[in-house]
Amino acid sequence: MKDCWASEYSSCDGKISREHYISKSVFEQPFIYVSGFDWCKDKEKKIGLSNLTAKILCERHNNSLSFVDQAGLNAIRVFEQLLPAKYRSNSIPPKSNVVDGLNKTGNPPALPG
Ligand SMILES: [Zn+2]
Repeated sequence: MKDCWASEYSSCDGKISREHYISKSVFEQPFIYVSGFDWCKDKEKKIGLSNLTAKILCERHNNSLSFVDQAGLNAIRVFEQLLPAKYRSNSIPPKSNVVDGLNKTGNPPALPG
């Protein structure tokens, strides 16, 4: 499946699915303002988070990488807690104060083979 960016690492399965460029769970609001790209160089554009996706992962890899989204979200919430409250963009506390990309065996998680 050549449209899945993870096909080089392990076999794909299922249809090509949408993946968010930036994890949707990082934001508390349903939209963000974007500028600087060719299509919004001169003026900020309001974009719904559900539209910030691309078809770049098969269903198998998308599902197997969901732990990365969760670990990234937790890390952002840990970092937010380090800021004074008035500068935080996310008020939800982290599930854990541990920021660690390793699994229980001490190794980085592997994609399914
Ligand atoms: Zn795949």
